[in-house]
Amino acid sequence: MQGMMMDAPLLISSIAEHAAKNHGDREIMSITADNPEHRYTYRECFARSKQLANALDRLGMNRGDRVATLAWNDYRHLEMYYGVSGAGYVCHTINPRLFPEQLVFIINHAEDRWIFTDLMFVPLLESIADKISRVEGFVVMTDAAHMPESSLSNMLCYETLLAAESSDYTWPDLDERCASSLCYTSGTTGDPKGVLYDHRSTILHAYAGVAPDVLGLSSLDCIMPVVPLFHVNAWGTPYSAVMVGAKIVFPGPKMGDGETLCKLIQAEGVSVTLGVPTVWLAVLQYAEKAGKRLDHLQRAIVGGAAVPQSMIKEFRDKHGVEVRQGWGMTEMSPLGAVNSIKAGLDGLSDQQSLDLATRAGRGIFGVELRIVDDDGNELPWDGEAYGALQVRGPWVCSDYFRLGGSAGAHTDDGWFDTGDVATIDAEGYMAITDRTKDVIKSGGEWISSIELENVAMDHPAVAEAAVIGLAHPKWTERPLLVVVKAEGQDVGKEEMLAWYKGKVATWCVPNDVVYIDELPHTATGKVKKIELRRQFADYQFPN
Ligand code: ADP
Repeated sequence: MQGMMMDAPLLISSIAEHAAKNHGDREIMSITADNPEHRYTYRECFARSKQLANALDRLGMNRGDRVATLAWNDYRHLEMYYGVSGAGYVCHTINPRLFPEQLVFIINHAEDRWIFTDLMFVPLLESIADKISRVEGFVVMTDAAHMPESSLSNMLCYETLLAAESSDYTWPDLDERCASSLCYTSGTTGDPKGVLYDHRSTILHAYAGVAPDVLGLSSLDCIMPVVPLFHVNAWGTPYSAVMVGAKIVFPGPKMGDGETLCKLIQAEGVSVTLGVPTVWLAVLQYAEKAGKRLDHLQRAIVGGAAVPQSMIKEFRDKHGVEVRQGWGMTEMSPLGAVNSIKAGLDGLSDQQSLDLATRAGRGIFGVELRIVDDDGNELPWDGEAYGALQVRGPWVCSDYFRLGGSAGAHTDDGWFDTGDVATIDAEGYMAITDRTKDVIKSGGEWISSIELENVAMDHPAVAEAAVIGLAHPKWTERPLLVVVKAEGQDVGKEEMLAWYKGKVATWCVPNDVVYIDELPHTATGKVKKIELRRQFADYQFPN
């Protein structure tokens, strides 16, 4: 027997409608290239999204056509999220930090018809214009007064485009399964791969995100996403924050600036913020130096890479901020696991709760997790067994855009292979030990580079650390620790290696330490291990 409930599609435009009606006065504050302090309300935001939708219709877009953005986190980018997807087009967010040849690949592969760009990326687009000739035109996201001189053909001004349009617009009644946005993985191995989200997956993911044990968002919050809108939809916050009617703060081009972020937290009353670990290093360093406390801030959702315990401790002890580690990936919209405390685990000692917080988190409802061995057998959830981490759920990709299954990322029984290696304990807390390709194979045993990095980062003289496996005549591979020292601090080789005593098994301790000024990072702020391995290709371990 069928149930008797309405068949209402889950559409991104319905978030806009709900928010405009119920939270119309809620504020969105942005820093942009043309305005250091822009403020307006949800009502204005969604009226302008409708003007944008009218403009896109007038430009002759057809359902499913890709409209790209090359922009920082600010209000105009948010308008794009709703105006483009709501009108039935695909909002393709592009990471401006990618190499020019990757940008060219992505733009051509996606067949973007128009590119909406921040002022500062106009020169970048000019430099690749002859290689992306299928793009019909460019819209610079600024007002007429700030329009640059440019060699780009068919270049329009965002504010002029909107001003010509009415805010009267009826969102189309779309199929909830139709594509809404597109984001390419950063392509650290091979060409970038496109993940094509749909309205249904986006809404379900946003519902999951607001839950108390996940991001825990409410209309009383002030949310500052420091994770870029071009990186997996800023972990869904443009939808989840708007769904609940929270105040939103967008740092614009100041995303990596510890001082600005610190000031925004104070001045705007930010209660929840999100970003990758490297961003918080800058914030914590500035706060320490300037003697500031991150008042108002209740929670920092930190993920995208392993979070060092020292960071969780510093947030907690110096600022009274709870760090919730999150794990996910572009292919998963991205939320897969979030580390929040579970019933029955209260009463942990100080150290035990820190150790727990260092794990990636427990699977959230909507994403099933499993770990398997090389033969595909499921491994026990005992916190010891480690294997390939696989997932499935309604916001996990079923294939990559235009690759026709050739990526081979899915198993025959319909799970997505994440490329991560993990353990899961009896309580369901998952810990990433490595990416499959970063695992260090020493004499038939696997050594977790992430565990070794976490221990190093807890040393007060270490600002950042990475561990890579390098060829070793006897053991196949052995770990090399690469350290960037904290400003004004010093630590010698012997002291550094002695730091591991009692913290990891003796045979896992790195064979050597090298000190460098800066680690190579990917476009999303993660340590680029491929590059590091290349840098140390000729390195020889001491006897
Ligand atoms: P890419 O880095 O290729 O652009 P994503 O941004 O989607 O891809 O990153 C996903 C990967 O980041 C995961 O597969 C995992 O290796 C890593 N990652 C994400 N969160 C965590 C975490 N909390 N701990 C360890 N690794 C993480």
